[in-house]
Amino acid sequence: MTDNISYTIAILHTNNNIPQAQQYRTVLPTTTIFTLLSSSFIDSRPYAPYSKAMTELIAYSDAYIKEFKAKVTAFSQEEGTVALDRTAFYPGGGGQPHDLGWLNHTPVLKVKRQGDEIWHQLGGPLPIEGEEVSGKLDWDRRYKLMRTHTAFHILCGVVWRDYGAQVTGGNLDLLKGRMDFEFETLRQELVREIEEKLNQEVAAARPVQVRVLLKAEAFKIPDLIRTKINLLPPNIKEVRIVEIVGLDLQADGGTHVANTSEVGLIRISGYKSKGRINKRIQLEIE
Ligand SMILES: [Zn+2]
Repeated sequence: MTDNISYTIAILHTNNNIPQAQQYRTVLPTTTIFTLLSSSFIDSRPYAPYSKAMTELIAYSDAYIKEFKAKVTAFSQEEGTVALDRTAFYPGGGGQPHDLGWLNHTPVLKVKRQGDEIWHQLGGPLPIEGEEVSGKLDWDRRYKLMRTHTAFHILCGVVWRDYGAQVTGGNLDLLKGRMDFEFETLRQELVREIEEKLNQEVAAARPVQVRVLLKAEAFKIPDLIRTKINLLPPNIKEVRIVEIVGLDLQADGGTHVANTSEVGLIRISGYKSKGRINKRIQLEIE
């Protein structure tokens, strides 16, 4: 059904047995999210100094957790950052911005993944290593990002199902964003038709399911094999799959709502020709 370039790929529980020196130098982090928004782009963010700590990203298993407790595993006074053993803060990736919120009532200004750890930059005093902290997301913002992200899966699904056009890239922000397609036949008349179809999928209240599969199992899914999971580094053991039941299936690392009805009204706010074949569609949701 879908042949889209994966919006994001989550790489989970990968081989941690490779030697330390090799792990430090390896081109792809052992546990990371890398985006395949364009086929040539592979994330190669800078590495933190080698550390055995690994942050459990709670948002992978439950995107609706708004508050959590965690332990500080490392901190950097110079950078004003702390790493945690677990976090609900999405570190950004796949076109979705990182979360904002608070740790112990101190604002979290920035969140980023470095290697296996997720670091939180704070706008105030840092807790020290070993300390337990309470985290709280700016839920209003995150939920809008979840709705927006899911709206783009609906767009991918509809455009592939009905027009056979593939995604080549995209970016999203609060309640708006853009997505690029190889969509030679896109023209103004189609835009209203697509918009109508997007809102039909919202009204259809389709469940959005997340599961983690062994890579070998994921390769057996015909819809997924045509996405770019074959570009995953060989040491990846598991792949996170996000499915809008009956519409769209992707290997993906972002956060989504549980049902398309939560997205709300979708409007195509613009479209642009980026050449004969490449077209950009901009969305807004209410
Ligand atoms: Zn997604």
